[in-house]
Amino acid sequence: MDDCVFCKIIKGELPSKKYYEDDLMIVIADINPKAAKHYLAIPKKHYRLFTEMTPEDAENLGKCIAKVGELAPSLGLENGYRLIVNQGEDGVQTVPHVHLHLLGGENLRLRRVALDD
Ligand code: 5GP
Ligand code: ZN
Repeated sequence: MDDCVFCKIIKGELPSKKYYEDDLMIVIADINPKAAKHYLAIPKKHYRLFTEMTPEDAENLGKCIAKVGELAPSLGLENGYRLIVNQGEDGVQTVPHVHLHLLGGENLRLRRVALDD
């Protein structure tokens, strides 16, 4: 999608701090971190909502999640992390391209993580 900020990052048209890339996804630092570590795992294919997924998209998202688990220790998340996916208006999804928030680097019980403040 031409006007999607994550598609532009994926294409290299916008800069990002990239931690991982393969044929299915990139992992970058969130520009406005809400925890000591805050990454975004972004599937390369543009779609906004889970309801738009094809079976192949679902399979690929599963692979992305498995890869996130594998990468976690190298991202400083060896002690655990939280995955958040915002969907649609009430979920306060601000970028219309499916992505996983990956939060950690501290005990999140000590912090009320609201992604929309
Ligand atoms: P959403 O609200 O859609 O779940 O999350 C979008 C996230 O993308 C927000 O946490 C926001 O800080 C992050 N974000 C928005 N624009 C950019 C950008 O240009 N670069 C990076 N690295 N993160 C961005
Ligand atoms: Zn996109």
